[in-house]
Amino acid sequence: MKYCAISLGSFIIADAAVADKASLMHESGHQRQSLVLGPLYLLVVGLPSITGNLMDRFLHKKWSGERRERWYHALPWEKSADRLGGLNAEN
Ligand SMILES: [Zn+2]
Repeated sequence: MKYCAISLGSFIIADAAVADKASLMHESGHQRQSLVLGPLYLLVVGLPSITGNLMDRFLHKKWSGERRERWYHALPWEKSADRLGGLNAEN
């Protein structure tokens, strides 16, 4: 998907348009979640993350990019990925 990044095991797959340092740090946070949760990662983080991404794409089209980023990164599993990846809570 365009403007999308995903972590699966030791791989991070990201659209070049969003593969900046902050995004890669965020995805490394998802990798840490995966190490802790094992197979549950897909249920506890993967599925909600994809659902949140789709909700954002369909329901927040009129929102500013900044507001959409803030909403997305306030979701508990995304906030946790930011923290575990070394980003501060404001990102
Ligand atoms: Zn994420």
